[in-house]
This record gives sequence, C-alpha cells and structure tokens, in this order.
Amino acid sequence: MAVDENNGLALHWKILIALVAGTVIGVLINPGMVLLPDSSAEVSLQISGDSGSGVSVEVIDGTGLESTLRRFDSSEQMSAAFDGVGPEQIGETSAATISVTERRLQIVEMLNEISIDYSRRQNGISVSTSISVRRASDLPVAWQQIHSVHGGGVRRQLTAAAKYLGDLFLRLLKMVTVPLILTSLITGIAGLGSAGNFGSMFRRTLSYYLLTSVLAIATGILMVNLVRPGIGAELPHGTESAPAMENQSLTGILLGLVDNMIPTNPVAAIANSSFLSIITFSIVFSIFLVRVGGEHARRLQQIFEAGFEVMMRLTMAIISLAPWGVACFMIYATSSQGLQIFLTLSWYMLTVAVALLVHAAVTLPLLVRVLGKRSPLEFARAMSPALMTAFSTASSNGTLPLTMTSVEQRAGVSNRTSSFVLPLGATINMDGTALYEAVAVLFIAQAYRGDLALADQILVAVTALLASVGAAGIPHAGLVMMAIVLQAVNLPLEAQGVIIAVDRVLDMARTTVNVWSDSCGCAIIDGLAGQTESADRQSAANS
Ligand code: ASP
Repeated sequence: MAVDENNGLALHWKILIALVAGTVIGVLINPGMVLLPDSSAEVSLQISGDSGSGVSVEVIDGTGLESTLRRFDSSEQMSAAFDGVGPEQIGETSAATISVTERRLQIVEMLNEISIDYSRRQNGISVSTSISVRRASDLPVAWQQIHSVHGGGVRRQLTAAAKYLGDLFLRLLKMVTVPLILTSLITGIAGLGSAGNFGSMFRRTLSYYLLTSVLAIATGILMVNLVRPGIGAELPHGTESAPAMENQSLTGILLGLVDNMIPTNPVAAIANSSFLSIITFSIVFSIFLVRVGGEHARRLQQIFEAGFEVMMRLTMAIISLAPWGVACFMIYATSSQGLQIFLTLSWYMLTVAVALLVHAAVTLPLLVRVLGKRSPLEFARAMSPALMTAFSTASSNGTLPLTMTSVEQRAGVSNRTSSFVLPLGATINMDGTALYEAVAVLFIAQAYRGDLALADQILVAVTALLASVGAAGIPHAGLVMMAIVLQAVNLPLEAQGVIIAVDRVLDMARTTVNVWSDSCGCAIIDGLAGQTESADRQSAANS
C-alpha cells in the first residue's frame, strides 16, 4: 500500500476507503420503501374515445392521490380493468370503486427538495407517480398527509446533511475551476512558443475526441442490440414529468456552441463560468501574447505563471478534503435511492454498465498503449483520485481541478498539454454520456416500439454525439440533453420519466468514463507531441 511521507496513507487509498465507507453507511441508513396497506378508493372515471381505436380513462379521486390517466387499446381491455364499465359509457363520467394494492412509497428528503415516488396497482394495473417540491407545504393536501406520517426521521436528516456537506466540497472545487483554467491555459499555450505547435495539438485533440466518442457510441449500440434490454420490458407508465428542456433543434445546439465560443464579453464569460468562452478567449489571448513578445509579454506571462502556481497550491489543499467529500456523496447516493426500481431496470443498467466497462477497460487502454506508448494500468493508478472523485460527485467540471493535478503531478503529463486538453475535454468530450444517450434511447425505443431500423439507429448515434458535446459537465446533464435524441426519432419525452430513478448511479459511472477519456487523451496527445519533438531533433541532428 503506497504511503505518502507527509500525510501517511496516499490520497487514492484514502479516497477509496471513503468511497467504500460512504457506500456502506449509505446502504445502512437507506430508509427504504414504505409499504402501505391495500385499500380501495371511490373515484370517478371520465371515459373518452381516442381518434384511433383506443379509449382513455381519466381516474379522478377526491384526494388526488389515485388520480391517473390510462389508455387502453380497446374497450374490452377497459372493461377488464374496470368492472361494469363498457363502451356505451364512452363520453360519460361514471363512479367506480378501485382496489389499490402493492402500494409502495419512496421519500427522498433534501434540505431544499422533497421528492416522493408512489407506485401501486389500481385494479391490477401498475401505475406510478412522482412529485418533487421545495417545501412540504407545496405538496397537495393528500401528499402532505403522507409526508407528515412517513417523511422526516433521523435517517433522512443524515442523508440531507451528507448531501449538504458533499455540496460544500463541490463548491470549493468549483471555486478554483475558472481561475485554474484561465491561468493554466494561458501559461500552457504561451509556453508552447509558436502558433504552429498549438495548431497540431488542436487538430490531434479534436480528432481524438471525435474518434473516442464514435467508438463509445458504437460500443453502446452494439451492446444494446445484443442484450435487447427493452424488448418485453414492462415499464411503469409514469406520470412524472421529464426534466425541463427547451425545445432545441440540432442546428440550434450547433449554433449555440459556436455562439458560446465567441464571447461578447470575456469578463461576463468568466463570471458565468462559461467554459467554452473562457477557453477560446484564453487561447486567442495567449497566441497574441506570444506574437507581441518582448519584455512586456514576458512580464505578463510571469504574472500568469505565478497565478497558476498559487491556484495549483490552493487546489491541492482543497483536494486533501476529497476523502470527506467522496464519503458524503456516497452516503447521499446510496441512502437516497429506492432499491425496488433497480430490479425493474436491471437489464438496462447492466447494458449501460457493461458497455461503459468495455469502452473504459478495453478501447481507451488500447489507445493509450498504442498511440500514447504508456502502460494503461500505471496511468489509471495515477488517475485514481480523479476517477473516484468523478464517480462520487457525478460532475466532470467539479472534478476538473483534481484531474489536472493528477495528470500533471502523478502521471507526469506536461502542463502545456493538460491545460488545453482537459478543460476542453471536460466541456465537449463526453464518451460516457454519448454512449449512455445511445443506449438509453434505444432501450426506450425497444420498450415502446421494438427494435429501431438501421437508419434510425444511425440518427440516434449522430444526435447522441451532438447531445454529449452540448451537455455540461454537471450531474444529470446527460439526462436533460437526451430530449434531443428522443425527439430525433419521435419518441415521447415522458418515456424518460422511467429511467430518471436510476440516473444518479449511471451518471456516476458515465462521468468516470468521461474523465477517464479526457485523461487518456491527455496522455496520448502528450506522448505524440513528445514523439514529434524527438523526431524533429533526430532529423535536425541528421541534417
Ligand atoms: N454528469 C456528467 C458529467 O459531468 C454529464 C452527464 O450527465 O452525462 O460529465
């Protein structure tokens, strides 16, 4: 076991222990499902015929708790679900008594959010409802009663406290991110010495990002077609709404990215942590710093170098708190998840997990070995603090300071390469997210419509790539961007409601792959730059 001379145990071991300890504590304090006794409800049914052959029935009860909307393919199906209700009642409202069984409640209570998942069977049909509000008083009355009986409790407060403390750690990391990117990029690019060197690094970086994202998506699509987790999957018909997402078109996203690259006000871009804007401005600034040259430029460069040193030290100090932050996030993640839903979606989750594993443990290491000419295993060990932090925080932006320090100080990659490749990667290179988008959308398609045709699968691949480029490096960003991919193949946005429940766990896994891919890119591009330099020296010596 590696021991750090100054602090005892090495950082990656401390983080690993925190990760395991946090998981165990979280599982132990998970308040779990509340099982409610079977009951029956007096409801009124509003029955309407669809334009097609189907029938929809709106179930309304006085408390709002059992209200749902159901669609049936035929009126026979409707009669089977609701005794004594036949086609002659289409267009009418009738009273009925429904039996409510298998009532399960999952309450997640944070300091600023309460969410309740309620699943049950109404006359034998599974339905589920989710509701999320900021305060208990915002809940509808019937839900308030449920919350006052089953909410609260020491375990939920512990979960809320862990989330709060974890968020504080993330805030500290975010505090250093923008100054770190700015000073690091300017120092790194000005240190390259010529725009020509930068040009070749830029081309290599973008080619790497494109190559690995395409490979990731191909792996995901292959896996989802092999396992076919959605075929025959009985997805609960959620009435929950998917996360809000503006109705974006593909061109809209692309143009938005281009707009973002040219900030009208660099200071505002810095204030808003707009990474892409900061990156372009810093690149242009550094290129012209080199062009200006002379005494003034040297002085300015020294100021940025000094700033970079200070930011690195500060980052290291914050990183020493990583084990605590990781433990808190793991407690939150494992104590706030309903365990039932994992069973329903187990094949889907397994498909995403295996595809991510193949990409992270086979494809990327092969590239590191062949192109970067280094040992993938040693490189992974050096990157472990960043990878574990990415896993627990589910934020590649938040992890960026750790990724930069690990790559430079533990893996020996030059600051010139890392200062450019990593911030850009955290913004636009998300292999894990791209893979996840493709698998999730094909899973939904399989469950709703069966296998998609090849042309549609290609459309999913292309839109998944764009969605991953546009996704921010923050928790659940991939889920929000998925709306674009769903829209491209005409799938309902509500379908997302089903997979939200397990998104946190998958987010943790895909964020780790995102950060791992950025890091591998760094090693490869640094390796290629080294090979070019030594080839140049060789040919200079020969001539
Ligand atoms: N959480 C991911 C990240 O930070 C983005 C996503 O939701 O896929 O990289």
